[in-house]
Amino acid sequence: MKRLALLLPLLALAAAPARADDPATNAAARFPGDGFELRAYQDAAQSIPPEIFYIPNDDSRPDTPEGGAFRSSCNAFLVIEGDRRILVDAGNGSPRGTLLAQLRADGIDPATVTDVLLTHEHRDHVGGLFRADGAPAFPNATLHLWWPTNVAGRAAFEARHAAFRLDLFADAASATNLPAGFAAEPAPGHTPQHCFYRKGGMLFVGDVFHAVDLQIPEPWFCAKWDEDPYAAFSVRLATIRRVLTNLPKNSDRVFPLSSPPLDHPPLFLCGAHIPFPGIVSKVRRPMGTAHEAPSFDTPAPGTPVPPDPDAPAPDKDGVRIEVRRRTPPDRAAPAPHAESTDGAKEPAP
Ligand SMILES: [Zn+2]
Repeated sequence: MKRLALLLPLLALAAAPARADDPATNAAARFPGDGFELRAYQDAAQSIPPEIFYIPNDDSRPDTPEGGAFRSSCNAFLVIEGDRRILVDAGNGSPRGTLLAQLRADGIDPATVTDVLLTHEHRDHVGGLFRADGAPAFPNATLHLWWPTNVAGRAAFEARHAAFRLDLFADAASATNLPAGFAAEPAPGHTPQHCFYRKGGMLFVGDVFHAVDLQIPEPWFCAKWDEDPYAAFSVRLATIRRVLTNLPKNSDRVFPLSSPPLDHPPLFLCGAHIPFPGIVSKVRRPMGTAHEAPSFDTPAPGTPVPPDPDAPAPDKDGVRIEVRRRTPPDRAAPAPHAESTDGAKEPAP
């Protein structure tokens, strides 16, 4: 029954497979970083109808957007630093996903991918780990994935992915085997093991957004695929706050109306379902009326990845000074995973 409930909204997903020969979806978007490069790929085009979204314990439904469905996407990201090629999520796999073809078209031999950071275990993130013939798509990669001790199905996952080196870490906040200075952050809600990855000014946020045009102005709207909607909502709010400009000092409210502004340093939020190239860098709180929706920035390809907003920055005299630090919000430990994870999960985006 649970499976059927997951499948039904999927049938409504207005998904159009990206074509490997479509230049609009076949071009990697590149963003230069300090000593590394970020590339974004659209694994599959998709839009999501408003019926997928709801507010927990509330009858409100979103207005139907122009065109009948919200803009969305299915993205994967590649970070190249030295000889490390680090993929964040692996897309749908055959037949819907085009990531492998796009990597090859972009000059990336999949055998040279050294690591895959998985935000969670849903099919549209792990399906692309295997080729259509069942062979591993990235035969030399180590898979990294948060697997809390109270989430079932670890042995089955290990058996299905025995062809890979596995790094299943039990504590996301202290994962020690991540490559190239990446850190993990627990972000449970969409699934009990949903996990962010952070490197410098990039925060890979997995499925915290399925439709930014709805969920940034009204983050309380959850997708039917959010397993714990309250936790998903809490993580979404905290994530938006990390890129909120005009944020009033000492305010616990999300979009307050008056106070001295305080800009957060820029941060790339890289999301699997943010419209391609999948990045939001700033959210602007409206300064006027409460009825005005916040707006957000999508960096154009070629925009430099911002520096680590928490890193010490040199002052005018070249002396390094400490800038304000943001600590991730407290998040409750994930609830025990009620659903068996034996077997592949349904392809819930
Ligand atoms: Zn997804």
